[in-house]
Amino acid sequence: MFVVYSPHHILHNPPKEFISNQVVAYGESPERAELIYESLMDIPGVKLIGPEQFDPGHFCKIHSSAYLEYLKTAYEEWVAAGLWAEGIMPEFFALGKLRDHPPLKSPEGKAGFYMTDSSTMIVKGSWEAVKYSGFTALTGAKQLLSGESSVFSLCRPPGHHAGYDFAGGYCFVNNAALAAKYLQDQGDLRGGGTLRVGILDLDFHHGNGTQDIVQRLENILLISIHGDPDHSYPYLTGFDTENTSKNINFPLPPGTADEVYFSVFCDAVALLQQFGAGYLVISLGVDTFEKDQLGNFSLSSEIYTRLAECLISRLKIPTLIVMEGGYNTDYLARNVVSFLKPFYDTFRISSSPDN
Ligand SMILES: [Zn+2]
Repeated sequence: MFVVYSPHHILHNPPKEFISNQVVAYGESPERAELIYESLMDIPGVKLIGPEQFDPGHFCKIHSSAYLEYLKTAYEEWVAAGLWAEGIMPEFFALGKLRDHPPLKSPEGKAGFYMTDSSTMIVKGSWEAVKYSGFTALTGAKQLLSGESSVFSLCRPPGHHAGYDFAGGYCFVNNAALAAKYLQDQGDLRGGGTLRVGILDLDFHHGNGTQDIVQRLENILLISIHGDPDHSYPYLTGFDTENTSKNINFPLPPGTADEVYFSVFCDAVALLQQFGAGYLVISLGVDTFEKDQLGNFSLSSEIYTRLAECLISRLKIPTLIVMEGGYNTDYLARNVVSFLKPFYDTFRISSSPDN
């Protein structure tokens, strides 16, 4: 099994965030990816590779060009205006219909327009890290198109809270949607038909950004299992009343444990089978773990292996696993490995990467 990893993520290292009126260390730290990377280095059957570079046009398939331009230029504009060099944190947010306003001109105005919360900071190296996080997802997708059965893209920053034209929840470019659209486009070129791609979001938090993006795409189905937004970020979205032909939400209450979760997970897998997905992209967050400080589920480390075994035995389609959340660094790597184990035990490397 290939694991795609890029050291560029280290360039994105914001010092702090605001949660419930407390200034705390930025929870989405470089240490997260480093720990996972180190835990995978010596596992037989796992081969670590770096990302290839891709045409920026792939990013434009899921994000507005104005938003991408903002991400690229935001920090330089901010500093050039004499604002705080530590990083960009909005001082206001464009709520509701105010988002219909054309993007504002000042660096402060753009920050409030494109960013949706106070836990997402842009620093000097953010764009480079974000770009390579996207390349990491695309490289994994390309490996699937080359015939691999499963690949893990160790993306950082994560992506599932990034929407068509907004950042939030530590996310800037939506890596899972980027990979899904790439798989569909490139698969269509080869197969001549309309390829269906499923996205299964297992992060504790609702993938509001992915939900926003898939409404604009065809033949991509998002299924998300997550904490009830009445209790958890992103609060405004993730209810089952939002279900459409393109997204299905399974909000679950605080304290949800292994057996209830597994039952809902099996329902999600059945829906993906009915949909007829040719490829699957998994947004893997392990903040569903019982000791994660940003979640309120009660899942064990062992359940992640059962979930992966179920996917392999029932779906039998090429699967890209994209890293999202998970914040208890004492358990993060162990839980990710618990999920990956059935994949790297089952699928041996069948070809060499181009790079
Ligand atoms: Zn999360």
